Amino acid sequence: MEYIKMFRNPELGKKMLEEINNEVVEDITIMEVCGTHTMSIFKNGIRSLIPKNINLISGPGCPVCVTSQGYIDAVIELCRRDNVIITTFGDMMKVPGTNSSLKIQKALGRDIHIVTSPFDALLIASKNPRKEIVFLGIGFETTAPIIALSIYIAKKNSINNFSVLQSIKTMPNTIKNIVLNKDAKIDGFLCPGHVSSIIGVKPFEFLSKEFNLSAVIAGFEYCDIIAAIYFLVKMIRKNEHEVKNLYSRIVKYEGNTKALSIMYEVFTLSDSIWRGLGKIGNTGLILKEQYKNYDAESKFNINIKQVNVNKDCLCGEILKGVKKPTQCKLFSHVCNLTNPIGPCMITEEGTCGAYYKYSER
Ligand code: SF4
Repeated sequence: MEYIKMFRNPELGKKMLEEINNEVVEDITIMEVCGTHTMSIFKNGIRSLIPKNINLISGPGCPVCVTSQGYIDAVIELCRRDNVIITTFGDMMKVPGTNSSLKIQKALGRDIHIVTSPFDALLIASKNPRKEIVFLGIGFETTAPIIALSIYIAKKNSINNFSVLQSIKTMPNTIKNIVLNKDAKIDGFLCPGHVSSIIGVKPFEFLSKEFNLSAVIAGFEYCDIIAAIYFLVKMIRKNEHEVKNLYSRIVKYEGNTKALSIMYEVFTLSDSIWRGLGKIGNTGLILKEQYKNYDAESKFNINIKQVNVNKDCLCGEILKGVKKPTQCKLFSHVCNLTNPIGPCMITEEGTCGAYYKYSER
């Protein structure tokens, strides 16, 4: 706790804010990619502390928000089958599919368990040998290694009634896709801290090398974020392009090699469908051939369809950093945390959810 206090030191933050004020002369747009950064920025009131000409926009880094509606529909269909137990992280429960959600299905008596780790799902599988246990594999590179490890253990121990319905997404190519969108005018990136703790610094270096952009990897405390903004502003002003790692207490240049090794033992890169963004090449992970028996999609012959979302929902543009939630005509009065219409309102970590909770309305 003593250690973390220095990253919450208001005096230090104040000094850096003064420096930021001295540095900024022109308009600057920075995208924070990760939903946890978005939440921390709102919780700490950082938007109101920085100069008005620094425009902070939120990216696609909320895993639940970007899970496709077709995936949810497939899970709903699966949970209605006899003999199937669905296991999932709690934040998936209220995500709306086309006609229902897991929360509604659980209330109707379907066998759905909230777990805190895929290992809990493995335990349920070994205790229920006559049932089929499906774990919902949602997340980014942060959760991929632990899901990979559970599949590896299941194979090693011949736990054959366990499988994963995969929708794991990966960040670097998604960010590249955002940069390539000509409508998004982003000067610098606050890279996702949790993802970086697994993949390291190198996968983000394309930002400086290919696109002459500045980027900072940072933690989630108040001073972490203020420092990231300070360095981004400084680099952008001086036209310096690099990926600076300010989160070295967690993030190593080469990433977490053990986690990466189990991740790529089990998974390989593939295209992925993002809710609000559509299909993006090389932004998902699928099971390698030797682990295909643990792929719920083929085991249960599931067809994950691409579903059209509400035409008035601006999530696609919001996730790309082109629009803000307050520009959506459904924001707040029609679409809110109790009645989410689009993916960005599904959780408080979604951009619309954060705007709604912290009342930029
Ligand atoms: Fe979509 Fe709701 Fe956000 Fe509008 S407010 S963009 S409908 S999630």
